[in-house]
Amino acid sequence: MQNKPFSIAIDGPAGAGKSSVAKALAAELNAMYLDTGAMYRAFGLYMLRRGALSDRQAIIDALDDVDITVEFIDGAQHIFLGTEDVTAAIREPEVSIAASDVSAVPEVRVRMVALQRKIAEGHSVVMDGRDIGTKVLPNATLKIYLTASAEERARRRYRELEQKGMPEPYDKVLREMQERDYQDTHRAASPLRPADNAVILDTTNDSLEESVAKIKRLAMEAIHA
Ligand code: C5P
Repeated sequence: MQNKPFSIAIDGPAGAGKSSVAKALAAELNAMYLDTGAMYRAFGLYMLRRGALSDRQAIIDALDDVDITVEFIDGAQHIFLGTEDVTAAIREPEVSIAASDVSAVPEVRVRMVALQRKIAEGHSVVMDGRDIGTKVLPNATLKIYLTASAEERARRRYRELEQKGMPEPYDKVLREMQERDYQDTHRAASPLRPADNAVILDTTNDSLEESVAKIKRLAMEAIHA
């Protein structure tokens, strides 16, 4: 008998380790991993290239032209703008704030949420983002709100950028992250906040492995409840 698909929502601020944790957890649970931030980033990149990030109407109009697709190649998520694979380009630091800008527009969120639900339909999934537990998967099997101190999150992002060969000064990383978190928590449409029934995990002093092990335990309990 086929097991019933389960869904795990992982939300939290930038640099909390959501994507690393979600990716490892999905592999351990044999589930699909969906990075929803990549979709907002792809659309942010599209508007950045058009030089129209601060034009709300242009953002809404662009929803009619933009073609964002997600493909899984050798198990890894790739994101396309039309036929262009923008998986690497969306990690540029300037795209982070562009993603946050476009994500505050309610029409954009409606489109992305529909796309996310469609991709996940019928699969066991681990999804990470800002509104997964509150909006995208309100009936998720398990909801996690992952956080850490702002300084620790900035350190993680700083190291990640350095490893990718795109180093940025620590102070700049911290400042931009705080700006993005402020925008994400203060917008009217699906602001970042823990879902009422989310388990809040502070990972400031935890390694990736410890965080994954903790969530895996909670996930097994929730799946077999
Ligand atoms: O997760 P990541 O840092 O890649 O997300 C980039 C931006 O996309 C976030 O700062 C947030 O503004 C937006 N986002 C969102 N809802 C999601 C995922 C990302 O609003 N589910």
